[in-house]
Amino acid sequence: MVTMNGWPDARTADVTRIHVGDDHDGAEVRTGDVARAFVWLLEQLDARVEKVTVVNGHRTRARNAQVGGAPSSNHISGTAVDVNGRTHPFEAHLHGAPFTSGFTAAQEREIRKILGEAGGLFRWGLDFPRGRRDAMHFELAGGTTPATVRAFVERVTTKGKQLADQVQVPEEDDMPTVDEIARAVWGYKNRELERIDTYALLRRTNANAQAAAKGVIDVKLLAEAIARALPDGALTKAQVSRVARLAAKDVLSKA
Ligand SMILES: [Zn+2]
Repeated sequence: MVTMNGWPDARTADVTRIHVGDDHDGAEVRTGDVARAFVWLLEQLDARVEKVTVVNGHRTRARNAQVGGAPSSNHISGTAVDVNGRTHPFEAHLHGAPFTSGFTAAQEREIRKILGEAGGLFRWGLDFPRGRRDAMHFELAGGTTPATVRAFVERVTTKGKQLADQVQVPEEDDMPTVDEIARAVWGYKNRELERIDTYALLRRTNANAQAAAKGVIDVKLLAEAIARALPDGALTKAQVSRVARLAAKDVLSKA
């Protein structure tokens, strides 16, 4: 069976949990490039529109029927997310009360800009027909394929890498490269996607991280190493220390 955008129903094995912003529970979406594309979208919304706090993704057909989703909703294929639903209601559930997207006009403009940057990869529920407008909802557009999603992910990843490559970082024997740290940061934010890579990388490349792996982490040293290896202004000081704390906590829990 396929859902409205043509993507096949997702089984449990086909989805992965992503975490963006303050959404600690995370949301399940289709594994691989689709997950990476949604991480990009949610990160843009989180940074440029509003803090992302609650995201819902994949639903089975049974669950979808239970919650009153459209038949063959793209949530069933793991190619749709609902963002901060409490403040952006689904029009069909308002029972005639006046509809509002819950976004300001400026926020709506910024979302259109983000969707433009994604080159039509995503469709926004606010553009659904009157009566079914759904501003919390973002999905892969009809006509998207694994190849178009892959091309998009490669485009946004390459852009980030080019920025990192322009930055000169002092060479130290046991210091990770900018690229390695960027991958590590990505991995910590989305652990299910690249968990193995990240641990192998940190164990291999950085003395502080090796210490962390042995359970004798100094979070401050790790934060300093991460900050040194990143382009200026790539992350705020608070973000760097959050990454280091997460890294420490995660490695310790595996020790
Ligand atoms: Zn939805």
